Amino acid sequence: MTETEPLREYREKRRLGHTPEPSGGREESTERPIFVIQKHDASSLHYDFRLEIEGVLVSWAVPKGPSTDPKDKRLAMRTEDHPLEYADFEGVILEGEYGAGTVQVWDTGTYRSLNEQSGKEVTMAQGLEEGHIAFWLEGEKLKGGYALTRMGESKRWLLVKMNDEQADARRKPVETETRSAVSGRTLEDIARMAFGAWLSTQSA
Ligand code: MN
Repeated sequence: MTETEPLREYREKRRLGHTPEPSGGREESTERPIFVIQKHDASSLHYDFRLEIEGVLVSWAVPKGPSTDPKDKRLAMRTEDHPLEYADFEGVILEGEYGAGTVQVWDTGTYRSLNEQSGKEVTMAQGLEEGHIAFWLEGEKLKGGYALTRMGESKRWLLVKMNDEQADARRKPVETETRSAVSGRTLEDIARMAFGAWLSTQSA
């Protein structure tokens, strides 16, 4: 077997040291694995959905964000794995850097796997390879079962809320719950504070 560095693509895409984003190195969670959904106001606004699987944050960009309505199928484009400490990242990636724009921790928490095949448990890593994972989120905003299913052999997946007691067709959290799950800040607050911090370094 060849050893591949799990975060190579992440590091290759970025100029670490120029971007405020972390370079990686945090240990795997010992108890429940974590998830994070980051609202990212890049060239086009999207939500980065990330699940801790085997020591990295496996990631998808969801243009419309997650829904609590089981009837909604949300396109989720698989992107490069991110380091675990990325889950805490809220701030501004400067113009000219990869993924330039403001990042907000829209939701975060832990999850447990609901993966199984004919009664037998399937690991998240195995489900990922096979193109279907199911999991129960315990977030600040999102709770309940969700599934991600790959369409063919592409990077396109669909994110769907399972029909359980946490399903709610009327809630529309992406539209109505716009503050950070960790700081209470809006995207505009984060951008303004980052600009203020940058200004204070210029006047020294
Ligand atoms: Mn993004």
